[in-house]
Amino acid sequence: MSKLKIEENYPLAPLTTFKIGGNAKAYVQVESASEVVEAIEYAKHQGMPAFLLGGGSNVLFSDNGFPGLVVHLVSTAIEISHQKLTASSGARLLDVVLALEEVGLAGMERLSGIPGTLGGAVRGNAGAFGSEMSDFIKVVVAVNLRTGMLKSFTKEECQFGYRSSFFKKEKDWAIVTAEFYLTQTAPAEHLATIRKETMAARESKHPQDAWCAGSFFMNPLVHSEALLDEFLRDKGFPSKDGKLPAGWLIDHVGLRGKKIGGAQVSPHHPNYIVNTGKATASDVVMLASLVKTRVRDELGVRLQEEVQMVGF
Ligand SMILES: Cc1cc2nc3c(=O)[nH]c(=O)nc-3n(C[C@H](O)[C@H](O)[C@H](O)COP(=O)(O)OP(=O)(O)OC[C@H]3O[C@@H](n4cnc5c(N)ncnc54)[C@H](O)[C@@H]3O)c2cc1C
Repeated sequence: MSKLKIEENYPLAPLTTFKIGGNAKAYVQVESASEVVEAIEYAKHQGMPAFLLGGGSNVLFSDNGFPGLVVHLVSTAIEISHQKLTASSGARLLDVVLALEEVGLAGMERLSGIPGTLGGAVRGNAGAFGSEMSDFIKVVVAVNLRTGMLKSFTKEECQFGYRSSFFKKEKDWAIVTAEFYLTQTAPAEHLATIRKETMAARESKHPQDAWCAGSFFMNPLVHSEALLDEFLRDKGFPSKDGKLPAGWLIDHVGLRGKKIGGAQVSPHHPNYIVNTGKATASDVVMLASLVKTRVRDELGVRLQEEVQMVGF
């Protein structure tokens, strides 16, 4: 007998950092692999699509909401044994960093302040200040949404890349837990200092409580020598791995601060699109589309969204 509590016509905007979006036709919180599978079965039985939600910090729901079941992964367990940390997908990434800090395991402190959950961070291989999730992951356990089978993925099988992974390409899997190995130790006070410095550095780049989803676009690979040279002259350091910051390109075409309706290209960080208070998803999509067109037409570079657009 199912214990799942399915709620109908559920408001999605409060579950996201954008604070935008209509209602889900149905919504359910799940805590385990078997509950994820049960929820997906329910959606199939009702003939509706399902969407997995973590912390809602990398999604833009449409103004019409989602015409199916939003499956919210809310299990937050974190365990540490020797050099291994195991956490559930619904654990906040910051809580993972804090748990490691407490026992003096070093490495992940530069990921402090990336909003959202472990599941979302593993899927998108979240990163900041030169560290990314894949630097520390040993094993990811995921459940197949079609068969209900649990599988342990080695790091190689996770196929991590820049803001990508196997789980981003293959939609049939829900991440349930992940295991991390941390080989370095450091005093907790030292790790706390780095955490605080990291969070202060993030805040100085952009207010972190702004209604947005962080970087809207991924940093694109750029082949134009002229553009790469211009970046070097402008910044005084070369581009990294042939990629230019999307924010620099957006600034280059003069769209810093551009507004459509309630959506704005952030004046502080042009790769953030912010909801200034009453933005609709349509405002954001129109603004993002203007940005893509201008960067393509004026600089010959194609931007690709990092944010997941849902229900469009
Ligand atoms: C102010 C701000 C700053 C940010 N800074 C950074 C940054 O520095 N670096 C960075 O990388 N990102 C950054 N982000 C983006 C965001 O925080 C990350 O992408 C984060 O890892 C998303 O996690 P989430 O739990 O919120 O995912 P959600 O937004 O809930 O979901 C994102 C995607 O992951 C999928 N998903 C979620 N959980 C699971 C699961 N268990 N299994 C399978 N799929 C799942 C969802 O279906 C969705 O497609 C920032 C966002 C904000 C708002």
